[in-house]
Amino acid sequence: MDPQTVFCHNPDCPARGQVGKGNIGVHSRKDRRYKCHQCGETFVEGKGTVFYRLRAVKEVVVIVLTLLANGCPVQAIVAAFELDERTVLDWQERAGRHCERVHQHLVEQPRDLGHVQADELRVKIQGGVVWMATAIQVATRLWLAGVVSTHRDEALILALIRQVKACALCRPLLFCMDGCVLYLKAIRAVFREAVSTGRVGHPRLRPWDGLCLAQVVKQYVRKRVVAVSRRIVQGTAADVSVLLQRTQGGGQINTAYIERLNATFRACIAALTRRGRALVRQADTLHPVMYLMGCVYNFCTDHKSLRLAIYLPKGRRHWVARTPAMAAGLTDHRWSVNDLLSFRVPLPRWQPPKRRGRPSNAMKATVKQWCS
Ligand SMILES: [Zn+2]
Repeated sequence: MDPQTVFCHNPDCPARGQVGKGNIGVHSRKDRRYKCHQCGETFVEGKGTVFYRLRAVKEVVVIVLTLLANGCPVQAIVAAFELDERTVLDWQERAGRHCERVHQHLVEQPRDLGHVQADELRVKIQGGVVWMATAIQVATRLWLAGVVSTHRDEALILALIRQVKACALCRPLLFCMDGCVLYLKAIRAVFREAVSTGRVGHPRLRPWDGLCLAQVVKQYVRKRVVAVSRRIVQGTAADVSVLLQRTQGGGQINTAYIERLNATFRACIAALTRRGRALVRQADTLHPVMYLMGCVYNFCTDHKSLRLAIYLPKGRRHWVARTPAMAAGLTDHRWSVNDLLSFRVPLPRWQPPKRRGRPSNAMKATVKQWCS
């Protein structure tokens, strides 16, 4: 047990979410409990992880979730581990919700995206079809956003683009997608910033500078591509060329990276396999599976095209494998699935309550210690 690596989970505690500040001590080694000396609350070691209040053996949960994130059907796990199907689905949902929080905490942070590609997947479920829209940052292969919906409509694309914007800094950005007109409307509506005029009322919204939009439209005859047309809808050819050079080393406008990621999604989620038998019953089940698989892809899987060459003496070369999260600078090593499931998402910093009058000296000291 290491008190320097955990934080207080009490939402009312001024020290909540802060690591290595010396406020946490070991309460009981036998029960594996910590104590926060600021608020006096105790909490168990697994609080904030997928394993919190699970009675199952941790190693089995990790193996089962690793299999689920690598395309193993639930029925195969039920047969191999002699578990109840509802137990496996409960672990899957619990892990999906946890991974969604990890994704929001680490991936949905503003960064210079450079080049983003977006696309949708058609997913067959029992008695219908749902759509899964996804987006990728090309330079780092980082999966940025995913939305599941029963309709391929404006709301689906808008939700996806809003998630992408949460990951973006206002820098030159190239968006590549298929010919669907909904993207253009959604991107133009979302990628705007408020212009402060000092007047009362809603501020005027101005489109982002340096935003380039490009479409790749494929023509099919009998399910085969016969022609591909590429067009720049917004931005100049020179700007697009600079962004392509920076993010993928030149080449043409394309949607190859998001199509490759969608192929990985189909391979790693049993319910997404084409003509497969492991269909999900409800669209809601897909949401946690998508986050579990997406986080395993971002944090736990080496990407062949991201490896770096280190040149050694005598002309020898050593390859360093990297995950998309490493390429994006979110972490410095490949996480195991156990690391991902055990990651504790910190609570946001405590804010002092708003009260009338002058604050007491005790409150001033607390604010100075924990809010600066
Ligand atoms: Zn506390």
